[in-house]
Amino acid sequence: MTTVGILGGGQLARMMAISGAPLGLRFLLLDNVADACAGQFAPMLVGDYRDEDILAEFAGKIDVATFDFENVPAESAHWLSGKVAVFPNPNALAVSQDRLAEKNLFRELGIGVPEFRDITCFEDLQSAIAEIGMPCILKTRRLGYDGKGQFRIKAEADIAAAWTALGAQTLTVGLILEAFVPFQREISVVAVRGRDGEFRHWALTENWHEQGVLSASLAPATEAAAFEAEAITCARKVAEALDYVGVFALELFLCDGRLMANEMAPRVHNSGHWTIEGAETSQFQNHLRAVLGLPLGSTRSVGVSCMLNWIGAMPEAGPVLQESGGHWHDYGKSARAGRKVGHATLREDSAAALADALARVGEALDRQQQVSQVLPRLR
Ligand code: AMP
Repeated sequence: MTTVGILGGGQLARMMAISGAPLGLRFLLLDNVADACAGQFAPMLVGDYRDEDILAEFAGKIDVATFDFENVPAESAHWLSGKVAVFPNPNALAVSQDRLAEKNLFRELGIGVPEFRDITCFEDLQSAIAEIGMPCILKTRRLGYDGKGQFRIKAEADIAAAWTALGAQTLTVGLILEAFVPFQREISVVAVRGRDGEFRHWALTENWHEQGVLSASLAPATEAAAFEAEAITCARKVAEALDYVGVFALELFLCDGRLMANEMAPRVHNSGHWTIEGAETSQFQNHLRAVLGLPLGSTRSVGVSCMLNWIGAMPEAGPVLQESGGHWHDYGKSARAGRKVGHATLREDSAAALADALARVGEALDRQQQVSQVLPRLR
C-alpha cells in the first residue's frame, strides 16, 4: 500500500486524492485548518507547516510527499526531504515561490519576460518607474496569488498609494516592479516531468481572469496554435533547469506576436482542471504517476473543453448537469467572497457544439459575461 503525503488540503489535494483512488493509492494530508476540503476524502493532520513534530509524524506515515500549494515554507520542504522523497524538489519550489528568482531564471533560459526590477526601498521604486515607465505593477515577490499582493500604478498619483499598500513588505516577502503587458491573450502550458526526465504536456490552454482570478479556460487553444511549439519549449527548459518532477503550469502572455512568461506554478494548476474530462489522463493523475515514478499517461485531448470557475458561491448545478458534455465539481467549501468553491467543465466533440453548450449554460446561470469572453474563439 502506497501512501502519498500532500502538504495542503485544498481543492487541488482533493482532486488529486480522487484521481489517485483508481491507482489504489492512500493519502495523508497536512493542513493548518481543520476544515480543509480535501479532508472530506482523506485523513488529515492539522498543524503548522513549520512544526517539526507534526512534520515528523507526517513523514513517518507516507512514502512520498508533494504539495497542493506553493507557499509551503521552503525550510519545511527541505526538512521533510531529509526524511522522505519530496517532489517537486525543494529548490524548484523555492525558485517558483519567488517572482524575482523565477523571472531571473526565465531570462537566463532565453524566455521573454516583462521588464522587471527588484524593489528594496521607495527610491528603488521611483527609479524603476522612471526606467520602466507606467503603467506598471508592484507585486510581492513571495506569497502572492490570484492577483493578491499586487498594486497597479497607472499614474504619478498611484506611486505613493502603492508604497503605502505594499512598501512594508520589503522587509518580509520582498517586492518586484513589472512593466504592464498590454497582452492580447493569456495562455498556459500545463506539463509533467517524470522522475526519469520524461516530459509531456497537455494542449495549450487560453485563460481569462477577472480581478486577477482565473474565470475561464479553453483547450485546445487553437487560435494560439502558432505559439504552441515555442510555449512548450519554454516549459520544457524551465522543467529541465529545475530538475522538476511532477505537474506544473507556465503562464504566458501573448503580446503583439511575442510570448512573455508571467509565472510558473509548481503544482497542478487551475488552468489544467479541464484535463479531468478533456484529456486521456488528467493533470492530477499524471502528477501522482510522476512523483511515484510510474509511467506517465497520455496527455492527448479528448474533444474541446471549456472550464468555468465558480468563485464565491456555487451556482445551480442543473444547467450543467443537463448538458451531455457537462461535468460538475463542487469542492465542498462554504461560500465566501473571492473563494474558489468549484468549477464546471463543458466538453464537446467540436468547437461549434461547445459554443452552443456554453451559450446555453451562460444564459441559464446568468453568466453571460463569463462565457462571452470564450465564445468568440469558438465561432
Ligand atoms: P499573477 O498573480 O502574477 O498571475 O497575476 C494575476 C493576473 O494579473 C494575471 O493573470 C494577469 O491577468 C494580470 N497581470 C499580472 N502581471 C501582469 C503584467 N505584468 N502585465 C499585465 N497584466 C498582468
